[in-house]
Amino acid sequence: MDIHEYQAKALLGARGVKVPPGRVARSADETRQIFHDLGAPLGVIKAQIHAGGRGAGHVLGDPERRGGVRLVRSPDEAEANALSMLDHVLVTKQTGPAGRCVRRLYMEAGCAIERELYLSLLVDRARRCLTLVASEAGGMAIEDVAAETPERILTEAIDPLLGFQPHQARGLATRLGLRGRSIAAFARLVGGVYDTFVDLDAAMIEINPLVVTPDGDLIALDAKMSFDDNALFRHPELEELRDPNEEDPREQEASRHGLSYVGLDGTIGCMVNGAGLAMATMDLIHLEGEKPANFLDVGGGASRERVTAAFRILLADTSVEGILVNIFGGIMRCDVIAEAVIAASREVGLSVPLVVRLAGTNVDEGLTMLAESGLPVQVASDLGEAARLAVAAVRERRNG
Ligand code: ADP
Ligand code: MG
Repeated sequence: MDIHEYQAKALLGARGVKVPPGRVARSADETRQIFHDLGAPLGVIKAQIHAGGRGAGHVLGDPERRGGVRLVRSPDEAEANALSMLDHVLVTKQTGPAGRCVRRLYMEAGCAIERELYLSLLVDRARRCLTLVASEAGGMAIEDVAAETPERILTEAIDPLLGFQPHQARGLATRLGLRGRSIAAFARLVGGVYDTFVDLDAAMIEINPLVVTPDGDLIALDAKMSFDDNALFRHPELEELRDPNEEDPREQEASRHGLSYVGLDGTIGCMVNGAGLAMATMDLIHLEGEKPANFLDVGGGASRERVTAAFRILLADTSVEGILVNIFGGIMRCDVIAEAVIAASREVGLSVPLVVRLAGTNVDEGLTMLAESGLPVQVASDLGEAARLAVAAVRERRNG
């Protein structure tokens, strides 16, 4: 689960990480009021969407192509800028061309900047521990820095038994060229980031930029945070930070039914059991020249309700031009799959071609049920054939 910058800053701020004062706003009036309350000569209005690159992005239809992070110097300016951002679509490098609708703004005090650094804390799977990543190339996309000048990226692995040690941060600070009081300030800030991460079972915290002020203080100017979904049950208080507007509605529906689902941008909806088989199915669709609309693993012992829900999600997805069901009946029985496919198709209406490949337990019963259902189903005997049939069916439908 991802959260907004303003929410991440509140969580970090509560654990001693310095952030500029600010408040979230949902209207232009509120934005004006917050600017007034902050009492700072310079304010910064920031679009709250779950994507980075807002500063360099642009609001669709804006004649000056202004972005999602703007400096303002008066209540009038705050209000006018809020009006031109709220309910408008912001396009950034990370949103794709469709952009995201801005529904909330963060109004914070402007901060004097001497240097912009980069800091993140993430789960390093290769090292099997948390790792701090820092760079003196702050404010830019870290992927670009890593690709072009990898020597500017510093990392520090955190021993899971010892936890974060302040000397690690002081060492990093020195390598980043920090001096004097900035070194202790950096160590305090990293300690706060680490506590936030561990307390809340985060998956990633990124502060870009982390700024050094002219008087040597360290302040988090941006904050991106995501949580480990598998640990969310331990933090019911985080649930209210969820913003449904920022989530893929297909994924929301899938998570309600306990399905492993990832929305993609292709045209063939896939329903598969087992992550490995799901990946292989997606590969074969690519090989045949089309793209999957999703990754969907209904799991080994999925119930009929779950399979029906999964099939309904595929049918409701307007980008799906054809469906490929590929099930190996091990624990799962093929007749249960067939029953769910038939029930969901009747319920929602099968508007796209359907290709089914079943193998394993009760396969004959399953195939007979499909054949007798009267639904326009194509049955494939192996995986390669299934992908070929699905791709051919989608193309035929597209070409009229
Ligand atoms: P994004 O990464 O989505 O573009 P940031 O929060 O990093 O958004 O803001 C982009 C840039 O705007 C920052 O690199 C920083 O230079 C500037 N900026 C952001 N917040 C402030 C602030 N409170 N005061 C001064 N400058 C800011
Ligand atoms: Mg940023």
